[in-house]
Amino acid sequence: MSLLVQKYGGSSVADAECMKRVARRVHDTRMNGHSVVVVVSAMGKTTDNLIALSREVHAQPNDREMDMLLATGEQISVAILAMALHAMGVDAVSMTGPQAGITTDEFHTKAKIMGIKPDRIRQNLDKGRVVIVAGFQGLSPTEDIATLGRGGSDTTAVALAAALKADRCQIFTDVDGVYTADPRVVEKARKLDEIAYDEMLELASLGAKVLQSRAVEFAKKYDVELEVLSSFDEKPGTVVREEVTEMEHIVVRGVAADRNQSKVTIQHVPDKPGVAAMVFRELAAVNSNVDMIVQNVSEKGHTDISFTVPRDDLPRTQKAVEGLLEGIGAAGVNYDDDIAKVSIVGVGMRSHSGVAHRMFDTLSRNQINIEMISTSEIKISVVIREEHAEEAVRVLHEAFEMDQVPEA
Ligand code: ADP
Ligand code: ASP
Ligand code: MG
Repeated sequence: MSLLVQKYGGSSVADAECMKRVARRVHDTRMNGHSVVVVVSAMGKTTDNLIALSREVHAQPNDREMDMLLATGEQISVAILAMALHAMGVDAVSMTGPQAGITTDEFHTKAKIMGIKPDRIRQNLDKGRVVIVAGFQGLSPTEDIATLGRGGSDTTAVALAAALKADRCQIFTDVDGVYTADPRVVEKARKLDEIAYDEMLELASLGAKVLQSRAVEFAKKYDVELEVLSSFDEKPGTVVREEVTEMEHIVVRGVAADRNQSKVTIQHVPDKPGVAAMVFRELAAVNSNVDMIVQNVSEKGHTDISFTVPRDDLPRTQKAVEGLLEGIGAAGVNYDDDIAKVSIVGVGMRSHSGVAHRMFDTLSRNQINIEMISTSEIKISVVIREEHAEEAVRVLHEAFEMDQVPEA
C-alpha cells in the first residue's frame, strides 16, 4: 500500500460540486488501496476576496492580522471536504496547519516552513482515515498562525510528502500539467511529459504560477516525486524529477512572464565603495526580495542604481530606501510598476550557445525594448514594458519552436 499526498488548488474546490468531485477522486484513490493525505487551498477566489476586504478597512493591514484572516480560507475547505467524504462513507478528519504539526519562521504573509511533526497525521492514517490538511499555513515561533505566500498550498503538500516519506505528491489543478508557456496566454503551448527540478524551479520563480517555487525547492531537496495533473480529467500529467542527460537536447524548455515586479531607481548616487553594500544591507534587513540589479555607467563620479523587487515588497522597500537617501548622498528615487520580467529556461542552455542572441534578436524584431538583463546557467531574463509581456512570451515561444515535439 502506498502513501499519496494529493493537493487540490482553489479552482478545483471552487464550489460544492467541485468539492464532491474532489471527494470522489479521494474516495477512488482510497478504494484502490492507497493511504491519502489531502491538502486543499481556499475555495475559488476566497483568498483574493479576503485581501480585497482587508484593503477596504486598511490600506496596509498588519501582517499578523492578515494571516489570521487569510488562513480562514483554507479552514473552510478542509472542513467541507471532510464532510463531503463522510457523505460518501469515507472516514476522514480535517486539520489546520498547526494541528498537522507544521511550524514556520516569523515572517508573516510569506513565512517559510521550518519543520513538520507529522505524528498526529500518522496516528490518523494508521486508523485508516484520510487526513485533510489546510494548505498555506503553519504555526510561527510566537505560536501565531502564519501563511506561506501566494500559492503556498503547493509547498504544504510537498513538505508533507517529504516529512511523511510519501510515495508521490500529486498537485491537482485546472490545467493538465506543466506547459512550455502559460496555456492561457500561448495557444500553441505544449504540455510537457517531464521537466527537471531545476527547470521547474526557474519557471516557478520567474512567474509560471502552476507551482510555488518553494514547493519545487522542497521536492528537489528531499527527492519527492512530484506530478502536476488536472482535477477535471484523468489524463496523465507532468512529472517533475531529477535531470537526466537526454533533457539537455532541448535548449529552451519553457518561457514565463512575471508581472508582479517593480523597478526602483536610486538616482545620482556617489560612485564609491560601500554605497551598494549599504543599500542592499538595508533592503535585506527589511526582508525585501531584490532580484535584478543594474548600475549605470558612472558620470562625473555619480551613477544610478536600479533593481527590481516583487510588487508586494514595494512598501517596505520604499520606506528603507527613502530612509537611506540622505545618508548615501543620492539625488532621489523613482518607482516603476509598469514592467514585466520575461524569461526563457532550459537545462540545455548549459551546452548550447547563441541562445541570448536569438532571444534579444527576436524581441528587437518585434520592437520590444529590453531595459534590464540577467542570466544564469539555465535561464535568461529580461525586463520590458508590461504592455509587451504577452507578446514577448508568444514571439519567444515561436522563435524557439517550443510547440514542436523535440526529436529523441
Ligand atoms: P491552483 O489554484 O490549482 O493552485 P494556479 O492558478 O495557482 O492553480 O496555477 C494554475 C495556473 O497556472 C493555470 O491555470 C495556468 O494559467 C497557469 N500557468 C502559468 N504558467 C504555466 C505553465 N507553464 N504551465 C501550466 N500552467 C501555467
Ligand atoms: N489560497 C492561497 C492563495 O490563493 C494559497 C494557495 O492557493 O496555494 O494563494
Ligand atoms: Mg496555485
